[in-house]
Amino acid sequence: MLRNDDQLAQWDRENFFHSSTHLAQHARGETPTRIISTASGVHIQDRDGTRFLDAFAGLYCVNAGYGRHEIADAISEQAHELAYYHSYVGHGTEASITLAKMIMDRAPGHMSKVYFGLTGSDANETNIKLIWYYNNILGRPEKKKIISRWRGYHGSGLMTGSLTGLSFFHNKFDLPLNNVIHTDAPYYFRRDDRSLTEAQFSAQCAAELESLIATEGAENIAAFIGEPVLGTGGIVPPPAGYWAAIQAVLDRHDILLVADEVVTGFGRLGTMFGSEHYGMKPDFITIAKGLTSAYAPLSGSIISDRVWKVLEQGTDENGPIGHGWTYSAHPICAAAGVANLKLIDDLNLIANAKEVGAYLNATMKEAIADHIHVGDVRGEGLLCAVELVAEKANTTLFDPSRKIGPSIVAAMLERGVIARAMPQGDIIGFAPPFCITKAEVDTVVGVTVDAVKSILG
Ligand code: PLP
Repeated sequence: MLRNDDQLAQWDRENFFHSSTHLAQHARGETPTRIISTASGVHIQDRDGTRFLDAFAGLYCVNAGYGRHEIADAISEQAHELAYYHSYVGHGTEASITLAKMIMDRAPGHMSKVYFGLTGSDANETNIKLIWYYNNILGRPEKKKIISRWRGYHGSGLMTGSLTGLSFFHNKFDLPLNNVIHTDAPYYFRRDDRSLTEAQFSAQCAAELESLIATEGAENIAAFIGEPVLGTGGIVPPPAGYWAAIQAVLDRHDILLVADEVVTGFGRLGTMFGSEHYGMKPDFITIAKGLTSAYAPLSGSIISDRVWKVLEQGTDENGPIGHGWTYSAHPICAAAGVANLKLIDDLNLIANAKEVGAYLNATMKEAIADHIHVGDVRGEGLLCAVELVAEKANTTLFDPSRKIGPSIVAAMLERGVIARAMPQGDIIGFAPPFCITKAEVDTVVGVTVDAVKSILG
């Protein structure tokens, strides 16, 4: 039972502005305050002692699993030794320099440097600023527009919220800003022409991009940003051949590629980076969540050799780069990152993500794909999604007002498993910690089947 009437719950309603929350209902006490107290492995426990299997790893970020003493100890030691120093004008710490080296050792060979931020959103803001700087230094000040995809998620700042292609993050915020244009999502399941093969649909997405570039003028387009696998937009792996087709269009028009690997970086697809998994050749890789497994807030922009050379040229011509955050490369966060990446190696967690991820996707498909209201079961590595439909034959969606996805997720919660109702569509998302076992996957799948049946029969 959730207590919702004691002092902590009252303080929460009176003082705390929560993300992605119905503010009025929460302030009136109509939605519960969920207070999480402890966690270990794949389980979290609320203050009433109720335990849940967290099959979404927080917000797909606690990749190493909860309760890792190695990371907690590294944070504590760093805080005692040196809690803070900045990274301006060539300053660093042992932790931040070591982590930069560890990241670049893991990044694709054509990448050069990493700039540290705190969140995925600010890392993408950094990327866009650097892309504009790059084109100004190259003497092409018109080449500034950024192409993003409908259903992409890149953060919720002004620019990054604009890049995000989900109306929920735009409505009433006067977003998207100028300079951002959206192209089609590579959402094979929701293709209009049901007769297309995956390869044909990928070619159609590339042709759509080509025609958008023709309309806008390649001389006005600086970059294309995309997640290797669409995440918050519905956990949608790309159809066969998609990234090769997109990369060819971008190369032809001298358009930079930003691979937003906030979710996929450091192992979620069973490879170190999603770029590697899909053969992408990005100029920027955005990293965050899995870098510290969320034990401390830390993000990064990994920058390619060809962009780095121009940034160096820019500072030779104009003096020091006018970009910086107080907390960039924060030593406590960097220490968490070093310990986390080491743990992921030591425990072979990426191999586990690959093996158990394949098991999760296969078992989920086997258990539920035949249900009359399950339209699609899809995934890659330790990402999986179940999409519900009103009618299977012609993939008719449910009326969103019925809130089928959220109801199923609530039914799962009652049964002790946390999944995520993805924000646009009746899509149940799974992205558990990398340490999840096959037995725990069986629990997740069993509860999903039960909950779907309880809501949809
Ligand atoms: N990019 C992607 C792909 C994400 O999934 C997210 C967050 O979920 C972000 C960027 C934004 O990260 P943050 O919430 O840390 O700002």
